[in-house]
Amino acid sequence: LPPVIAIDGPSASGKGTLAAIVAKTLGWHQLDSGMLYRLSALAVLKKNIQSDNEAEIAKVARNLNVCFVGQQVLLDNDDVSDVLRTEEVGALASRIAAYPLLRQALFERQLAFRKAPGLVADGRDMGTVIFPDAKLKIFLIADVNERAQRRYKQLIEKGISANLVSLLDDLKARDERDMHRSHAPLVPAKDAIIIDSSTLSIEESVAKVLAYWSA
Ligand code: C5P
Repeated sequence: LPPVIAIDGPSASGKGTLAAIVAKTLGWHQLDSGMLYRLSALAVLKKNIQSDNEAEIAKVARNLNVCFVGQQVLLDNDDVSDVLRTEEVGALASRIAAYPLLRQALFERQLAFRKAPGLVADGRDMGTVIFPDAKLKIFLIADVNERAQRRYKQLIEKGISANLVSLLDDLKARDERDMHRSHAPLVPAKDAIIIDSSTLSIEESVAKVLAYWSA
């Protein structure tokens, strides 16, 4: 099987950016697993499914008609790249991600991203559940205030209005849910390397991961 680098960690720790640059540098495939939870959430919203209907949500996730075209994500042939990133979709994704049936429904879909020459996968359970045999497992953390600042800057740069205090509250609530759910909680794999990016630039985080990979 092709090698996997798993990058897990809490919301807004910088996993996505880190994974994208590492994948590009190595010429590997990338899996943004949070995107699959967000796509499921969006499909649930579009189909007006109740957020407590676990069985129906899992069914929707199993049948997602999704297509990746370069940087674009198409759901039922609509470009949903921007709407996927909204707080509304993220909040619902975080809620439904607690459902075991949904996690199961997305399992095979995630494995399918593992292709030669290799895969960089980021999320919450890449190193623990989806790719337990990953050659390198990184657990990326950062101070919650720092993460809120980063997300705030990101949104403002995109011209999206944002409120730092509510972003901070939202991140804390999300951490709480991710870490304390009974199924696949956010914990570092036993063999994960913990990197605290609070005081690191993205370039410094990338350099660390590449150094671990070639070590
Ligand atoms: O990483 P991102 O914020 O896009 O993920 C959206 C939500 O999906 C997260 O809040 C998290 O609860 C959930 N998620 C998950 N397992 C993953 C990736 C994301 O539970 N592997």
